[in-house]
Amino acid sequence: MTTAQKLSFDVQTSDHARTAAEREQVLASPGFGQVFTDHMISIDYTEGRGWHDARLMPYGPLLLDPSTSVFHYAQELFEGLKAYRQESGSIVSFRPQANAARFNTSARRMAMPELPEETFVESLELLVQTDRDWVPTTPGHSLYLRPFMIATQSALGVNYPSQTYKYMVIASPAAAYFGASQAVSVWLSTEYTRAAPGGTGFAKCGGNYAAAFVAQRQAVEQGCDQVVWLDAFEHRYVEEMGGMNLFFVYGDRLLTPALTGTLLPGITRDSILTLAGDLGLKAEEGRLSIEEWQEGCESGELTEVFACGTAAVVTPVGSVKGADRAWSVGDGTPGEVTMRIREELTGIQYGTRPDPHGWVHKIC
Ligand SMILES: *Cc1c(COP(=O)(O)O)cnc(C)c1O
Repeated sequence: MTTAQKLSFDVQTSDHARTAAEREQVLASPGFGQVFTDHMISIDYTEGRGWHDARLMPYGPLLLDPSTSVFHYAQELFEGLKAYRQESGSIVSFRPQANAARFNTSARRMAMPELPEETFVESLELLVQTDRDWVPTTPGHSLYLRPFMIATQSALGVNYPSQTYKYMVIASPAAAYFGASQAVSVWLSTEYTRAAPGGTGFAKCGGNYAAAFVAQRQAVEQGCDQVVWLDAFEHRYVEEMGGMNLFFVYGDRLLTPALTGTLLPGITRDSILTLAGDLGLKAEEGRLSIEEWQEGCESGELTEVFACGTAAVVTPVGSVKGADRAWSVGDGTPGEVTMRIREELTGIQYGTRPDPHGWVHKIC
């Protein structure tokens, strides 16, 4: 893209933005992904012409032909990251370039066009700067940013991917995804598979989620909070949990499933692998079977388990249930290593801890 001209954004601000009082009411109890800010980003792509019509515009519905490709073939991908208000008053995001890179990895897998990384980051900056009053001041809350791309061609032929696409970013004030830091219970899914080799497991695409809801519903029917995915061949090796990666704590050693192509390469996961060293912990990527998980908990060798992701940050796992087994992790309450990692990571994000790896990206 060296010869491409830098896109400039047309800025059209809303004439019906919410009042300060309306906004404060939302921010008092934001939930997760329920209310959106006053603006959004849109950039169009046409084969042969490239990216064009970059704009910031009032948040609102799209008008799309019923034959639009994304409705039928799910050619879609997304990202998720947050803007944090630090104590100094600055608004920052966390490793947005990593999200930009992953967006393009997903795009290649979905036969969709890549977006220049600087355009991705600039689009987030513009939206957050415009809607900065929507970034919560409550500790632990944040503005969740949802960049995504859809195939917009209206045609039902499937011999080639869409020739037109739309990239958008929307933003939503967010509380913690799981209540403060209570441990979650998980269901081992042996009936359903999330991803197989050669599939889309490593891509952040909506289709992965579409195929997962039935298993998440089953987890809830089993009295669990979340589903844990196992490998597609043996339904035996742990991959990840819902929309989060998993870490297993053996005293001062962390183990997380290796990136085999069937699990999502979380940026939180990657950050924790680095942070572990800073905290004097050993961290490795490997393989863990459900038998090893159960035996480790029963012998006491496996002391803690936690899930991590942008939305859920670091969430302890307290109990495990499968079709023919159930056990608890430690005493079922949040562990010490889990909470230390959670505090270190959120401390960097909210500016109360040093940022030795330069992960924090100042927006305004
Ligand atoms: C987004 C996502 C994660 C976590 O990724 P982060 O970059 O840490 O937010 C993990 N698993 C799945 C399936 C995801 O979609």
